[in-house]
Amino acid sequence: MEVKTSLLDNMIGVGDMVLLEPLNEDSFINNLKKRFDHNEVYTYIGSVVISINPYRSLPIYTPEKVEEYRNRNFYELSPHIFALSDEAYRSLRDQDKDQCILITGESGAGKTEASKLVMSYVAAVCGKGAEVNQVKEQLLQSNPVLEAFGNAKTVRNDNSSRFGKYMDIEFDFKGDPLGGVISNYLLEKSRVVKQPRGERNFHIFYQILSGASEDFLCKCCPCNAMQIVGFMDHETQSVFEVVAAVLKLGNIEFKPESRVNELKEICELTGIDQSVLERAFSFRTVEAKQEKVSTTLNVAQAYYARDALAKNLYSRLFSWLVTRINESIKVLKKVMGVLDIYGFEIFEDNSFEQFIINYCNEKLQQIFIELTLKEEQEEYIREGIEWTHIEYFNNAIICDLIENNQTGILAMLDEECLRPGTVTDDTFLEKLNQVCATHQHFESRMSKCSRFLNDTSLPHSCFRIQHYAGKVMYQVEGFVDKNNDLLYRDLSQAMWKANHSLIKALFPEGNPAKINLKRPPTAGSQFKASVATLMKNLQTKNPNYIRCIKPNDKKAAHIFNDALVCHQIRYLGLLENVRVRRAGYAFRQAYEPCLERYKMLCKQTWPHWRGPARAGVEVLFNELEIPEEEFSFGRSKIFIRNPRTLFKLEDLRKQRL
Ligand code: ADP
Ligand code: MG
Repeated sequence: MEVKTSLLDNMIGVGDMVLLEPLNEDSFINNLKKRFDHNEVYTYIGSVVISINPYRSLPIYTPEKVEEYRNRNFYELSPHIFALSDEAYRSLRDQDKDQCILITGESGAGKTEASKLVMSYVAAVCGKGAEVNQVKEQLLQSNPVLEAFGNAKTVRNDNSSRFGKYMDIEFDFKGDPLGGVISNYLLEKSRVVKQPRGERNFHIFYQILSGASEDFLCKCCPCNAMQIVGFMDHETQSVFEVVAAVLKLGNIEFKPESRVNELKEICELTGIDQSVLERAFSFRTVEAKQEKVSTTLNVAQAYYARDALAKNLYSRLFSWLVTRINESIKVLKKVMGVLDIYGFEIFEDNSFEQFIINYCNEKLQQIFIELTLKEEQEEYIREGIEWTHIEYFNNAIICDLIENNQTGILAMLDEECLRPGTVTDDTFLEKLNQVCATHQHFESRMSKCSRFLNDTSLPHSCFRIQHYAGKVMYQVEGFVDKNNDLLYRDLSQAMWKANHSLIKALFPEGNPAKINLKRPPTAGSQFKASVATLMKNLQTKNPNYIRCIKPNDKKAAHIFNDALVCHQIRYLGLLENVRVRRAGYAFRQAYEPCLERYKMLCKQTWPHWRGPARAGVEVLFNELEIPEEEFSFGRSKIFIRNPRTLFKLEDLRKQRL
């Protein structure tokens, strides 16, 4: 990276970790801490922004700050998320390079806030005029709509995103915003029917309950946002009818006295014929080879059917919302993608949802490694400098453990789900044990050749994966069921018959004319496919990274927990990131600014050097007797191997000033 003038002057701690000397875990953490204590929550690793959640509002996002960072070079001012946003926006506008902003970090680290800051910065600096402003408003207001339906309070975060979101913001050739496209990734729909202790259901359910009076539509907070995004009143109304129906589904009990009333209300709300719904909760019809067999559901199956319906109604509604928002904002030109996805999760009990979320984070880490190294390598080639190989941990092997088409965990889960005969979570685990037992990153106790037979911390019903971010133990209970994602056909047909156009549209497979005996893709394979599409998309863009760090587990301001931060910088591979950036040559700087900054150190170059800047730098380095192995001349830049050489230059400069 370029040597940054401002990063060397008047900085609290070191603004760019690449300049940290000595470099080790302690110095890294101390530097972050020192800056955090002085309200400096942003620090660079080259062009990567590390962001530490301050858990309080800092006066650093004002319109004045926006002006300060606008059209300035990345390294000119102190580290800020606005600098990254500005850099990304300008390369998009001026160099036609599609951008993506990749935001990672664990739950509560500040990813969603960061994505909103990027979006609001870009909205503030791009384009003007009524039409453009309307586009901006729509883009920005999609956040509160999706947060109301897709976020919930968890133990980690009061406003935790329970879905992954990727948003392409599209610009015309002048850099004015035209619209956007949102993709969502696997909403955690199990939350609709069951929440872990101390956590809540999606925000919208509480908003709907607190605002359920007559002027509900004006009061309820997502409504205003929905209106700006372009929802018609009747659409908004329909959406809330579905949410209310999901709420009421949760109240249905399969006891003779309570059942009728709730069912009746649901049917009134949704225009479903009550006898149809009653029947769908009582029987299950299986069709095979032109034969129809109906069996009566027992009470447990009826509850299962009820929950499956609630989850399906809600998650389909959510996907519909995304599609509907896209209709409002879609066009196609230059794009800036903002990815805000659920962070790596390690709970006490980890289930299918955590498995999927963590898989996604493995893929993001993979793309981070690939692109960081690739970028570095390309620069060396461009500049004609010899490339030195760097040792780093490549998590491709973990991705393979999960996604390999033959032997991956997802493939085996699918195989189990599709296999005839009795399939349980245990048979799935047995299968894993056969196939994965020898994989370095897989641990379980069941397999005969297990290295973990005596590891009593690993229950028989679990398997453990050593993720790049740490070991996670997964409970297999529920994997098969959640992957199957089964909704009895009787229910989808009942929904399709509803006299409610939104609900009908959410269950297209319920149309008897379109009966399809093929089973729909499993939850796991759907997710895998959408992640693959996302990765392809990201690879075509110029990446910008924000790595979010959570300073404490208390959601509190001013507390910096060293151990917690240490764990995160380890698994985010931040130290490795600095090393990659420093490998071979720690710094590089174009010849002109380098000569400009240090020409005072040499009689021949001071006050003016006549001739090419490169020759001037050669003369300068010669005169200062910098050892030859310490630098290399690239096509347009000087490359300096060791930070100490740079500090020496800086010291000399300070003495002269
Ligand atoms: P994540 O998306 O990584 O799970 P969030 O972005 O939702 O985390 O952040 C969790 C909470 O932390 C927010 O609701 C907010 O209270 C606080 N927070 C995050 N980033 C900032 C920031 N830059 N300034 C002030 N508070 C923040
Ligand atoms: Mg979030």
